[in-house]
Amino acid sequence: MKYLKFKNSNEQVPIGKIVCVGRNYAEHAKELGNEIPEFPIIFLKPASNVIFSNEPVVHPSYSNNLHHEVELVLYIGEDAKNANDEVAEKAIHGYTIGLDMTLRDLQNEFRKKGEPWTLSKCFDTAAVLSEVVLKKDYKLRGDEKISLSVNGTVRQNSTLNKMLFSPVEIVKYISARMTLERGDLIFTGTPEGVGRVVPGDKLVGALENIGTIETTIK
Ligand code: ZN
Repeated sequence: MKYLKFKNSNEQVPIGKIVCVGRNYAEHAKELGNEIPEFPIIFLKPASNVIFSNEPVVHPSYSNNLHHEVELVLYIGEDAKNANDEVAEKAIHGYTIGLDMTLRDLQNEFRKKGEPWTLSKCFDTAAVLSEVVLKKDYKLRGDEKISLSVNGTVRQNSTLNKMLFSPVEIVKYISARMTLERGDLIFTGTPEGVGRVVPGDKLVGALENIGTIETTIK
């Protein structure tokens, strides 16, 4: 079982389900040749995929196109089912920065065949997390900067107000379909600039006022 790490707290919270939103930035949808979605596109990752900042991502041997996706991650701190705006906001107890590592070649193959994306998004080390900042320490304004560099070159650089669906809208949408529980995480989608990484690469991400994340590809 994997446990969350918190800034300024020693709480022991096991990681529940990890719900991810696809194509939540218009420019990212465009760069992959996708349409801008009318509703959030949802997929899952298992908690066993999680590693933390400063641990290496292990490049699977069966892919030739491992991509980085830097994202705001929401920490769900209490149950939410059919949440309205108020309940959705209250269920978000904190935030962190995460990397949704993706096997783009597999994803493209699956999409072509109309098969589930699962194995392009789920593999050991596919979800990299930093420490959760609790809302009592910082409440997101919604226009924070988010960025990712590879070997010192900035590849992703955007702001959270470019998200098509806000954190509250995402929590409402998901909780109308499956109950969100304490310990669940939501990856809210990545801005444009995703790209390939290879063994030896060093990734450094930053989310303004929340924190940084670092990993190398092994
Ligand atoms: Zn993603």
